[in-house]
Amino acid sequence: SVARVYKNACEKRPQEYWDYEQGVTIEWGKISNYEIVNKIGRGKYSEVFSGRSVINNQPCVVKVLKPVKMKKIYRELKILTNLTGGPNIIGLLDIVQDPGSKIPALIFEEIKNVDFRTLYPVFKLSDIQYYFTQLLIALDYCHSMGIIHRDVKPQNVMIDPTERKLRLIDWGLAEFYHPGVDYNVRVASRYHKGPELLVNLNQYDYSLDLWSVGCMLAAIVFKKEPFFKGATNADQLVKIAAVLGTKPLLAYVSKYGLKLPSEYDTIMKDFSRKPWAHFISSDTKLAVPEIVDLVDHLLRYDHQERLTAKEAMDHKFFKTNYG
Ligand code: ATP
Repeated sequence: SVARVYKNACEKRPQEYWDYEQGVTIEWGKISNYEIVNKIGRGKYSEVFSGRSVINNQPCVVKVLKPVKMKKIYRELKILTNLTGGPNIIGLLDIVQDPGSKIPALIFEEIKNVDFRTLYPVFKLSDIQYYFTQLLIALDYCHSMGIIHRDVKPQNVMIDPTERKLRLIDWGLAEFYHPGVDYNVRVASRYHKGPELLVNLNQYDYSLDLWSVGCMLAAIVFKKEPFFKGATNADQLVKIAAVLGTKPLLAYVSKYGLKLPSEYDTIMKDFSRKPWAHFISSDTKLAVPEIVDLVDHLLRYDHQERLTAKEAMDHKFFKTNYG
């Protein structure tokens, strides 16, 4: 299957735009222009520090990559240089190299992020409208540039509520989209993995990112973080089926000529579809009909049925005034 939108976004650009396999030309900055202030995070693929430019004293973030395949490093660098400067995309300021290990470190603009566990619970409907619009703008932009993020989750959406600034970060799993190509399904973080990944449907596309947005939104609206909490990858699909139903899951896999992988034989049950009203209580004041309808149009098994980033921005939830 092929993406409904932006399917030729890469092909219409020169090969240097999307081909990272031959390596990429990097204009290396000077590592001595930056100093480390303190450690702010460690991921699977990096150690992240807050830092400062000694040239202009501006704060920055230094992401020191871990030694992984050069191909993966080239991909992240290529994608970041293609996207930097785009709306709500984290700004890449410089690329420097550790003189000892030769491993690249990426220098980014620093966002004064407030942790989502603190921030999301105090969101009003108008905040959700604003920040999800900003996130969808970032996604529509990267999709229009032929790039799937493949790891959309709260930890990768930096929000500075004081400046009402949102930036999509961590392009380490992002990939160029080419129609008809098979992609690795071992991407995204478990709670935000789309059904396509869990049933080994390799020809997925930008719509994967919209499933992850749906998970983020459902978690906020129904006050259930994360909304689908699988104990393993296989259990993740069981948790999804417990909400969306098992019959439509089987219809989805058969539409694309697949069968449910045998690992599900012992763990999948015949769930009926739960109406969204099932998740509404006196505690879920955010669950107005328009937002529930938006969640419903994002959390679809069939990736071709999900709203695109642009369609989601045009949804009536974003046009309603909640005061
Ligand atoms: P993971 O393995 O968790 O996906 P990673 O190794 O790919 O992580 P990033 O996700 O890019 O690395 O960064 C790790 C963490 O560092 C982020 O979750 C965030 O808390 C912090 N961070 C990264 N970039 C910035 C930034 N520009 N401003 C503020 N904080 C940042």
